[in-house]
Amino acid sequence: LIQLSIPLNFIGFVYREIRQGLTDVEQMFELLEVEAEVEDGPDARPLAIGSGAIAFRDVHFAYDPARPILKGVSFEVPAGKTVAVVGPSGAGKSTLSRLLYRFYDIQQGSITIDGQDVRAVTQKSLRSAIGMVPQDTVLFNDTIAYNIRYGRPSATDEEVKAAADIAQISGFIEHLPGGFRATVGERGLKLSGGEKQRVAIARTILKSPPILILDEATSALDTRTEQEIQAALDLVSKNRTTLVIAHRLSTVVDADEIIVLKDGLIAERGTHAGLLRQGGLYASMWNRQREATEAEEHLQQVRAAD
Ligand code: ADP
Ligand code: MG
Repeated sequence: LIQLSIPLNFIGFVYREIRQGLTDVEQMFELLEVEAEVEDGPDARPLAIGSGAIAFRDVHFAYDPARPILKGVSFEVPAGKTVAVVGPSGAGKSTLSRLLYRFYDIQQGSITIDGQDVRAVTQKSLRSAIGMVPQDTVLFNDTIAYNIRYGRPSATDEEVKAAADIAQISGFIEHLPGGFRATVGERGLKLSGGEKQRVAIARTILKSPPILILDEATSALDTRTEQEIQAALDLVSKNRTTLVIAHRLSTVVDADEIIVLKDGLIAERGTHAGLLRQGGLYASMWNRQREATEAEEHLQQVRAAD
């Protein structure tokens, strides 16, 4: 029995290793599959990045021809400015970020960076110019230092630490057993959504791209965590062309322009103050979120008094 249990345990161990190894491979394939949708053209040239001005012009897009997602969307993110996209879930907000990254090609219109169509440049140069903090960060089964350094493999330990400082995650890391050498991911420590997002921010700080895409987490973060993340994001997006996809409107108040996307079209656009004055969709979203926040705060006060 003992003799049998050893190989069985061993097989179990190998199986687990392979299985967990596979999750990384699967993630990789997921990415490759998306990348396989588009290819570099025969005369694709490296993106000549200047100040990183983005323009979407009359963009039409559908994942499935029977169901259009974007039906003629035009907007610009001037160099160094921040434009926020808000709107109901399923409106096509994250799709905009995938199209800028050219995970898919559009069916009509154009997307340009500094006047160059994203279809005319090499994907490698395009993706190295854009830093993306996604809605759901996947961490590698490796050390936290590796996960941050992934943004720029040549970065020194000091630079990794400095990026973690800016992302407001170094305090948390230093309390982990092993500190920056602690293993995270499926096989290591499981980080919360907010912690993973800050690792992604640190990674992006190291990459230091001219263009940033921030797809904010939908998962309800507590107010403190949200404020910490917001402070980190404000630092990263300063003087960088930034496209923010926002779920919490409190994070877009300072954006240079806010675009309200609904049913594949821009329903409203303007500054926070201007949109509130219009009293339309944005204003009602804002009021609804404010009521929810007030209710949450009230609940916390009641709990604290108990
Ligand atoms: P948002 O970020 O505004 O919530 P998305 O841009 O993620 O919305 O998605 C817009 C619509 O496109 C949704 O209805 C979604 O179900 C659909 N969609 C997203 N990704 C895919 C995909 N890979 N294939 C088919 N449909 C998709
Ligand atoms: Mg989304």
